[in-house]
Amino acid sequence: MKNKTVKYKTLLFDLDGTILDYSKSEAAALYGAYSVVFGIDPPDELLPVYQKINSALWKEFEKGTITIQQLKIKRFSSLFDSFKLNTDPAAFSEIYLQELGKGGYLLHGAFDILESCAGRFRMGAITNGIGNVQRSRIKKANIGQFFETVVISNDVGIAKPDPGIFAIALENMNLYNKKEILIIGDSLSSDILGGINAGIDTCWINPMGKEPGEIKPGYTISDIAGLLEILS
Ligand SMILES: [Mg+2]
Repeated sequence: MKNKTVKYKTLLFDLDGTILDYSKSEAAALYGAYSVVFGIDPPDELLPVYQKINSALWKEFEKGTITIQQLKIKRFSSLFDSFKLNTDPAAFSEIYLQELGKGGYLLHGAFDILESCAGRFRMGAITNGIGNVQRSRIKKANIGQFFETVVISNDVGIAKPDPGIFAIALENMNLYNKKEILIIGDSLSSDILGGINAGIDTCWINPMGKEPGEIKPGYTISDIAGLLEILS
């Protein structure tokens, strides 16, 4: 734990896995798109296979080895190859993204935390994702009012952990004192590494009790409710 005398004034939140339930949105979108395209319910193995393919591709994207456009198509071309299904991955991707935008599911306790921090802290959100999908989900979840800025990687052409995306949030909010800022997120490779790269304190949400390894967060909490203790 860091020095408790630090007084944070601004909170920069990650969205997926931190505030929004991406897993639930993803499952619903995949189920929905598959049902629309094939006219039947998907096989049970579809989701876990898709998640494996998708998370590997997001890691590639974070490393800068593929573009978001490639990711959007490749996750479905790989998926359909492994299920020996013949459908256009680009067309499926469009339907999937429409379905994904409907998924404004909040993680347990997240809305209450945002509400209790509102007014006491300035808040922003930084998310690696697709602009219209993320904006639609934020609207569905009714959390847009909490954030002075929402920086979405695909809109700005920079993704976490690049410190440039945090710089955009700071600029949008006219923030100069990094010592008064805390970044909160569930991903070591994007949020925590990004915060370290940007010279800003970090708080890692680690519900599964994973080992941090090389990337060392300033604070670790198992649940977003734990944030209140750090901020008190
Ligand atoms: Mg996340």
